[in-house]
Amino acid sequence: MKKSEKIWMDGKLVAWDEANVHVLTHTLHYGLGAFEGIRCYATDGGGSAIFRLGEHTKRFFESAKILQIDIPYSEAEVDKATVDIIKANKLEECYIRSLVFLGDGAMGIFPKDNPVRVALAAWEWGAYLGEDGLSNGIRAKVSSFARHHVNSAMTKSKTTGAYFNSILSKREVVSAGYDEAIMLDTDGYVSEASGENIFMVKNGRIKTTSLTSILKGITRDSVMRIAADLEIEVTEQRFTRDELYTADEVFLTGTAAEVTPVREIDDRKIGAGKRGPITERIQKIYFDAVKGRAPQYESWLTRI
Ligand code: PMP
Repeated sequence: MKKSEKIWMDGKLVAWDEANVHVLTHTLHYGLGAFEGIRCYATDGGGSAIFRLGEHTKRFFESAKILQIDIPYSEAEVDKATVDIIKANKLEECYIRSLVFLGDGAMGIFPKDNPVRVALAAWEWGAYLGEDGLSNGIRAKVSSFARHHVNSAMTKSKTTGAYFNSILSKREVVSAGYDEAIMLDTDGYVSEASGENIFMVKNGRIKTTSLTSILKGITRDSVMRIAADLEIEVTEQRFTRDELYTADEVFLTGTAAEVTPVREIDDRKIGAGKRGPITERIQKIYFDAVKGRAPQYESWLTRI
């Protein structure tokens, strides 16, 4: 990873290498913490813009609320800190990671009065699933690990500890030679990928999984809006892995992965085995939006 200079930690800017925690940090042991992943893009007209900052900050607070963690800052303060960390590191394009966690103090399951700590880091990060994946599509495999049941790890929270499930899935499929893991829910229906939401296209119509066992992706929401503006029908519903095999197009959405086409799933070619035409149209508008070339989506940008 490409280091930046500063990290925002508990209200102060500290040097990258000094943003450290004690080994008895509660969240390090039990995983009760929440995070966000945000992107900032260089825009065509000059200057940078954070994509959908307000929605990310809101989800950050909602994740913490689900976990009964009180973030000791207001949403406006976190918004400002996000802008500050980009400026402090003089970054034009970057990925921003916000994290809220319980510090050291009491040990054991019950975090009585452990301090709630917040950190924000920003660094340069290119295409998460590769530049080639963005244009030619990736190869995915359905993981043998099911996505969390909604009543164990509640999937509307971006809970740090819950990501062990994504890591195991990702490792499983990467070691088998694939790029990304698709996960099924505990009833066996398609849920999402290890760090992305999933869409399928069949006969000109788009389907994406309903909100039951998935994270409510901000890219997912952006893509649904773009599709609606293109007058392409999008429904949110459960579907099965064999519907994916016989789809015309499949693509994944996420802040890190952006809009990435899937060209193969479980060794079955999807559609023509390359980025499909609807995926390409949506992907193009998505990149126009994030790079400030789409006036109709200007309200999604926080220009800095
Ligand atoms: N699902 C999971 C499990 C994720 O980690 C992410 C990435 N945050 C997403 C979906 C996509 O969410 P977003 O578009 O808000 O980045």
